[in-house]
Amino acid sequence: MRKKVIAGNWKMNKVRAEAEQFINDTKTNVPASDQVESVVCAPFPYLASLVEKAAGTDVEIAAQNMHFEDNGAFTGEVSPVMLKDIGVTYVVLGHSERREYFAETDETVNKKTHAAFNHGITPIVCVGETLEQREANETMTLVESQVKKALEGLTEDQVKQTIIAYEPIWAIGTGKTATSEQANEVCTHIRGVVEKAVSADAAQAVRIQYGGSVKPANVDELLSQSDIDGALVGGASLEADSFLKLVEAGAK
Ligand code: PGA
Repeated sequence: MRKKVIAGNWKMNKVRAEAEQFINDTKTNVPASDQVESVVCAPFPYLASLVEKAAGTDVEIAAQNMHFEDNGAFTGEVSPVMLKDIGVTYVVLGHSERREYFAETDETVNKKTHAAFNHGITPIVCVGETLEQREANETMTLVESQVKKALEGLTEDQVKQTIIAYEPIWAIGTGKTATSEQANEVCTHIRGVVEKAVSADAAQAVRIQYGGSVKPANVDELLSQSDIDGALVGGASLEADSFLKLVEAGAK
């Protein structure tokens, strides 16, 4: 039985007081971490203070990106060493917004995934198709290629610990959720890709989230699907009440 993981991706939202208030409002109210993993993906400037605020609770703090090198002349970047140093435990990699606006590629996602494991940070690797790609029937081949490239060179054990987030780009921030059948179909395909590329054991262990307009009203149905092990949530993760409803759904 795979433990569900609910991750709230704040993107570039909230100032410090709002971020800290959110953690105060959620940290003692989330279900125990043996029932569901509750992860908050916050902007860089607040990570250290949120890690401190969430210490000893069942809320984990994630970064929304990182560089793959440990250090060096990379102005404006943040390294896995720095994230580890302040106690960040998860990192979102290859979000479609980073692929689209910041030149993230399958190759850099793969390097970052390796870097995350080298520093004991759990990667949440995002994949997913545009509307044009879906309409051209390219979803399965695209997602297969994104998953294979992201996982290339990882050990079986590392693949088992990876979280893959299937996020159809046409469903992100649009209010258009993929139907639970559409979402599950792709998540099942991804599990098959992991089985072929790595092993049956890795495929059974890897957690696959769905993301794209997930909210309290549709989360139960999505999480009831055979191959959906959690959600990566943007808009509906910004309010503590809504985030708590999502993680409660994950603990059912
Ligand atoms: P959304 O964003 O829930 O606002 O659609 C999801 C995401 O981009 O991770």
